[in-house]
Parts: sequence; structure tokens; C-alpha cells
Amino acid sequence: MNAYVERVIEYVKNKHCHEPEFVQTVEEVFTSIAPMVDKHPEYEKADLLTRMVEPERMFTFRVVWTDDNGQTHTNIGYRCQFNGAIGPYKGGLRFQSNVTPSIIKFLGFEQTFKNSLTGLPMGGGKGGSDFDPAGKSDAEIMRFCQSYMTALYRYIGPDVDVPAGDMGVGGREIGYLYGQYRRLKGVWENGVLTGKGFSYGGSLIRPEATGYGAVYYLQEVLKHENDSIEGKRIAISGYGNVGWGIMKKAAELGAKVTYFAGPDGYIHDPDGVTGEKLDFILEMRAKDPMHCKPYADKYGVEFVPGAKCWGVKDVDIYMPAATQNDVRMESAEKIAASGVKYYIEVANMPTTNDALDFLRSQKHMIVAPSKAVNAGGVAVSGLEMSQNSERLVWTAEEVDEKLKGIMKVIHAMSVEAAEEYGLGYDLVAGANIAGFKKVATAMMEQGAF
Ligand code: GLU
Repeated sequence: MNAYVERVIEYVKNKHCHEPEFVQTVEEVFTSIAPMVDKHPEYEKADLLTRMVEPERMFTFRVVWTDDNGQTHTNIGYRCQFNGAIGPYKGGLRFQSNVTPSIIKFLGFEQTFKNSLTGLPMGGGKGGSDFDPAGKSDAEIMRFCQSYMTALYRYIGPDVDVPAGDMGVGGREIGYLYGQYRRLKGVWENGVLTGKGFSYGGSLIRPEATGYGAVYYLQEVLKHENDSIEGKRIAISGYGNVGWGIMKKAAELGAKVTYFAGPDGYIHDPDGVTGEKLDFILEMRAKDPMHCKPYADKYGVEFVPGAKCWGVKDVDIYMPAATQNDVRMESAEKIAASGVKYYIEVANMPTTNDALDFLRSQKHMIVAPSKAVNAGGVAVSGLEMSQNSERLVWTAEEVDEKLKGIMKVIHAMSVEAAEEYGLGYDLVAGANIAGFKKVATAMMEQGAF
């Protein structure tokens, strides 16, 4: 491998040894782009790679809020403004008790290349808090969000940094965050956040965009293989916004999700999650996000407690859509042994590096990386920013058409980038190289800082 790339990976391993997820993603991306660095010796002179792994800015802040019983709580808030070379920092906020600086940094690093792949002018950022929204009342969520925004509002803006949702942050939270921003600034700057409600500048299709985009990307992969989505059976993990979008779009296009896994085990519904079952999932999730068993009870289908559906044979496609490091070596071995051809990552970094390398080495498999597959979400956030700055509203059809076009281009760009370096149909390397290229060029042209 390229010696400069190796040195920077070593640097990250040493300097950031307490940030395992961040080290993991840097190693994955930089290993992929090594052939490109071979051809660009000027990167080393400009120390481009070390500059790329250090966020432009990252800060923490105290978020204090009071619960419904009058008890005060203190959480840690984060915002990482990772890379602003190609546009304002852009990326979601994650509210989850396991959030650490390492998780925020890995997500911000991934976001930089993902946003570049969309072709839209967005830099990379990420933020969040170790606040756990599960079991909190609506009023508690509102007070938390108001306190969070009070600490953050000076450092964001439509041309500065544009947060959005991620795990634990959906339309409700974005509403409270935006309300507080408007109250503090006294201006109508709704381009400061995306994923907003439609009544105050949100884009149609944004809630479904990540799941829909993933299925559109999958269609491009199938087309490449002279295959089609019609009749395909899909196993996914996660049934949040993203998993739900996959279920809905797959059903619309004549495929079906026949397995889905949650925190308590997995469901096998051979008829697929279609029709009114899609509404039931929403209800079930709103009542209790930790259990999917009620689905099995209601529809009389199989539920396997405490297990993941990786390795089941009666599907055509796997789509991990839950969270990072969901698929480790042990699951990857089962997936490879199942004979299933398509492994389409959806969640951010759902596969450990060793498991990903193993799956990519399987001759019978095609592996697609999350930073390309899930980019439809942030792409529609970019479209929301455009609508806000132009003070106009696009129809659902217009947004959906644009999303489809963007997913098509992301796939085509990845194919082209991998071919340019003689790597064949390698969607993982292709996405990394294509995403990296634009950021690298912009940084080189803007001088050393
Ligand atoms: N959190 C989402 C992601 O991982 C969306 C970010 C956004 O829309 O800014 O890409």
C-alpha cells in the first residue's frame, strides 16, 4: 500500500487510539483511496490526508434540562464541523445514550465523503448528545431540544452548518430545535436545519428519502447484473425510518421485505411487510421502539428471540439498516455461506472492517457501501436547502425524480471511479474514490489550512 497512506493510518491509530469507530472508518476509506494517492504525490507535500482526518472544529457543550418531576439532568452535547471544503458543514444529530466523541467523529468523517458523492455543495458534519430519548415525555424532549439549541445556535446557520436528524432525532425534535433557533435569532432562517415539517419549509419525501434512495440504488446494482427487483425477497435489520422506507418502496416495486430484525429478535414474514402491516410497524414503534415481537403476535408469523437474521437462505438480498457494527465476522461468515448474492449496506458503517473485507472477497457476492446507498437522505436534505434558499416548494414527484437521478449518478460515478483504477465492479472502493476526489481537489485548490 502507498507509504504515505500507511503513515497516516498509523498516525490515526496512535493519536486517536481511544476512538475505535473513528479509527475504523479512516482505515476503511484510506485503504480504498491508496491507489489514487499513488497517482497524486502532491497530496503528501500538502499533507492532505492528515488534514482530512482532523476535523476543522469539534466542540462539546453542557445541556441541562429538567424532567417532569422537577429533577435536573446534565447531558453532553457535541457538534463536529469536520470538513467545509465543498460547502457548509452538513450532517445529522444523533441522540442516543451510547454517543461518544468517537461515534460523532466517525459519522462526520463518513458524512464528508457521502455528501461529496451526492454532487451537491455540502461539507461534512455531525453532532448529537448522550441524551436517551427513549421513555421521555414530549415535554421533556421539548425542554431538552430547547436547551440543546440554546447552546448551539451561535455556531450554525444556513451558510455555516446545517444539522438534521439521525438516530433519536426525527421530525418532532427538529421542530423543537427550529422553534428555539427562531426564537433566539429572531429571523426566518429555516435553511439552518433540514428534516423540518412541511408546514415550515420541510421538503416532501425527506422522511422517506434514505430508504427510498437505498432501493433506487439497489435497482441500479440489479440492472448492472441484468437482474430486476421484481419478486426479490429482502432481509433487513432495523425498522426505523430508514428500514420502513425500504419496506414501503420495495413493496411498491414488486419486491418484499420478508425478514426484519429489532433489538429483541427477528421476524420472518414470508408474505412480506406490505399494505396495512406498514402502518402497524409505525404504531408498534411509537409505542415501544425496543420490541418487534408484537408484529409476530398480530400477524401470526415466526419470531426468533435474541437473534439476528444474518444467514437465512430464503432471501435474495441483505440490507443491514440498523446501526454501526451490526454485522461482525461471525455474521459475515453465515451471510457468505447462505449463498445470497447481494449485500447492500444501509446504516452508517454497519459492517466491521474484517467482516467487510471478507464479504468483498467472496466471488459470488456483490457488496455495496452505506456511504453511497444511504446518501439519498442527505441528498434530499440538500434539495430542502435549495427550496428554502429559493423560497419555493417542489412537489413530491419533483423531489422523488431528483432523488432517483442522484442515486443513479452516485452508482455510475462509483463504477467509473473503480474502473479508472482497474478495480472492476468494486462499489466500495469506487464510492470512496469518487467521494474523496472532489473534497481533495477543493482542499488542494483552497491552500493549506
Ligand atoms: N443523518 C443522516 C445521514 O447519516 C442525514 C443527514 C442530513 O440529512 O443532513 O446522512
